[in-house]
Amino acid sequence: MIRSKLLSKPISSMYPFNVSAKELHSGRLNGKVAIVTASTDGIGYAIAKKLGNEGASVIVSSRKEDNVKNAVKSLRDEGITAEGVVCHVANKEQRRKLFEVANNKFGGLDILVSNAAVNPAVTPILEIPEEAWDKIFDINVKSAWLLAKEAYPELIKRGGGSIVFISSIAAYQPMFPLGAYSVSKTTLLGLTKSIASEVVHDNIRVNCVAPGIVATKFASAITSSDAAAEKSLSIVPMNRFGKPIEIANAVAFLSSDEASYITGETVVVAGGAVAHL
Ligand code: NAP
Repeated sequence: MIRSKLLSKPISSMYPFNVSAKELHSGRLNGKVAIVTASTDGIGYAIAKKLGNEGASVIVSSRKEDNVKNAVKSLRDEGITAEGVVCHVANKEQRRKLFEVANNKFGGLDILVSNAAVNPAVTPILEIPEEAWDKIFDINVKSAWLLAKEAYPELIKRGGGSIVFISSIAAYQPMFPLGAYSVSKTTLLGLTKSIASEVVHDNIRVNCVAPGIVATKFASAITSSDAAAEKSLSIVPMNRFGKPIEIANAVAFLSSDEASYITGETVVVAGGAVAHL
């Protein structure tokens, strides 16, 4: 009875005025410290904001200093505790800085979200230049592995933690002509399982999120043309693109204690698109 009365009211009327987004969240990440790579725009930024709104102190990062400064300012304006680091994920010294800031500013690390990826070549997989192949695997796979390897001792120091990789629906069904990118994303599914099984006794959970097509700069070639959008949406039962916050919600869940019995898994957030290997 009470429930039906509540549901008949507009959601906004149930919340008091002048309440920040942070106050509306559960605080399930209170006291946690999170590094999110490639987090000054798109899905990464949404993840940093969501984790911050759930109470985590976040370290945002990307290649360009201006982007980092702007992201930190926007997050702090929302009441989120944030620091920024210029970090190209393939740069060892810049990756080291991520962990240094986590330690020096926030006293350690609990959550790593490895989100950076590139796709420098839109070609059939057997025509992709070797340098482009190497770049895709360097950023999308090797850097993700290195970040996990470097985060591991930090997470151990805290008695455990969580790692989340960002893969793609393309991991399950290669997208043409993004074959090499798709295979790099399939590799992350294996990386997730492999690391998860080795660190399970350290109280570290390792999971992965595979987004469908999300309207960000990265996917603008698909989302900004009507013809391309229509074709891409033909495999999405919900018939719409995802929103960055919808990916961030899954990452926040996997990072939190609510997912305490989940490790080695990939959560597909793709509007119902079929996903199996
Ligand atoms: P995006 O909107 O293009 O955001 C890119 C972000 O990454 C920016 O903050 C950029 O900032 C940073 N960045 C780019 N290269 C970097 C590097 N080498 N090192 C560190 N930061 C870097 O991309 P997105 O769509 O949010 O994609 C995020 C993740 O989701 C990727 O792993 C992607 O594969 C995955 N994904 C996306 C979709 C989609 O449809 N959008 C679908 C499935 C999976 P700077 O320019 O300052 O470096």
